[in-house]
Amino acid sequence: MQQYKLWIGGKWVLPKSGKTFPTFNPATGEEIAQIPLAGQPEIEKAVAAAREAYQTWSKMRQADRSNFVLKISAAIKENIKELARLETLEHGTPVCDVFGALGAASGDMEYAACSARSLMGYHIPAIPGTLTYLRREPIGVCALITPWNHALGMMAVKLGQALSTGNTAIIKPPSVNSLIGLKFAEILDGVGLPPGVVNLVTGPGSSTGDMLVRHPGVDVIGFTGSSATGKQLMEAGAPTLKKLIMELGGNNPVIILEDADLDKAVAYHAPRQYHNAGQHCSGAGRYYVHASLYDKFVKKFVAISKDIVVGDPADPKTSLGPVAMKEHRDRLEAYIKSGIEEGADLVLGGKRPTKAPLNKGYYVMPTVFTNVKEDMKIGKEETFGPIAVIMEAFTSEAEMIKKANATRYGLGASVWTKDVNKGLSFVDKIHAGTVNINTQALCAELPWGGFQESGFGKEGSMEGLLGYTQIKMVVLKYE
Ligand code: NAD
Repeated sequence: MQQYKLWIGGKWVLPKSGKTFPTFNPATGEEIAQIPLAGQPEIEKAVAAAREAYQTWSKMRQADRSNFVLKISAAIKENIKELARLETLEHGTPVCDVFGALGAASGDMEYAACSARSLMGYHIPAIPGTLTYLRREPIGVCALITPWNHALGMMAVKLGQALSTGNTAIIKPPSVNSLIGLKFAEILDGVGLPPGVVNLVTGPGSSTGDMLVRHPGVDVIGFTGSSATGKQLMEAGAPTLKKLIMELGGNNPVIILEDADLDKAVAYHAPRQYHNAGQHCSGAGRYYVHASLYDKFVKKFVAISKDIVVGDPADPKTSLGPVAMKEHRDRLEAYIKSGIEEGADLVLGGKRPTKAPLNKGYYVMPTVFTNVKEDMKIGKEETFGPIAVIMEAFTSEAEMIKKANATRYGLGASVWTKDVNKGLSFVDKIHAGTVNINTQALCAELPWGGFQESGFGKEGSMEGLLGYTQIKMVVLKYE
């Protein structure tokens, strides 16, 4: 079996403990690699390397820094076949989807590199006889802690923003996606970055991740993951008051009003429910459908769901592969069980495949629940899988809005209506970081991020870039 190493200070190193941990192919349950487990000595080295590199990286000409980030973006494209193979092998992403996601990762870095070249400060003419100006500066060493649902994309978007603005970084990918993390480190190594500007350590969040986010030499925690982990990271960062950027969970309402174009709404959302096995923070968490459209909506949704091709993610015909790990499959099955026990109607799926070879992998069949109530677990919590949660039909819009907002999350929401004015009125009514009307959009130029327990700070766009900077005020008195 191949021996993998950590990437610290521009060198490939083994952990002092010699410890490793396994990763698995979610389509078969077979072990695919033994990954080095970074401990405290490796975290110390990585932080020291990033702090040292910060001295020169933060003072480099912006154009030179941006050019390095552009090189990384280009190298992602050059290595796209191997990256795609790893995403499919390690995460179960169907080959029909994987190239789009990796292209977006490269695009995110390109956007950050180019946008950083137009960052400016400004002059404040408040006090006569002074030159007072504000300038943007990098913050320092960033711990970039990423989730498993879009492994390369999450590393790339954070790294692009952090590096372009002059910070240095230590990436800790999710343990289940360590292989693609290590491949990314190989790509970074290949573009000739000065040693220590980026370091990559692998290991579980509870040990390696925890050591990293508690380290006093880390200035910023750029995190995407669950709200529960986000809260732990806030505590871990509190003693040294680290800057936090938190992209957390969601339970996004999709609202189908009485005058919605039903065919368009279903054709849009039903396939997306199963895209990336439903492991999207931006995906639909709860469908609120007007009573007059309810039965038709369910019928059409189920028909599309039945046509979803479940299978080996390496097969180009497959549109729904396994979920990323066994623990997540078990969590989803527990949600399905609770939905049934709490009285929701299971109208499709709910079972794992019984026939070989799919019975060996972590598959969850397309599943649709109807008549879900807000106090049921599947109505309240983020399921994060190929499970459509269609709430009880509504007739009163005011009641439905109360229910849609009655969540501790506030990431995104979608409204479907033919009346533009009505659609826009939901911008005032829905408490979430994004409100989509008759569509859903996410790309490098758009700021993504939530309210409440869905986090704070934005990812992508100029807003995301600014999150990795701080403002310094300069006042000069002249005679
Ligand atoms: P998670 O919180 O379990 O893990 C995320 C990362 O944090 C992993 O790398 C993990 O190893 C690390 N981690 C865990 N505990 C840690 C600790 N104590 N200290 C330091 N690091 C620690 O999340 P997940 O299950 O990997 O991802 C799914 C979640 O991510 C969902 O809730 C989803 O909504 C959310 N998500 C949000 C967005 C967004 O943009 N808002 C995007 C994608 C995913």
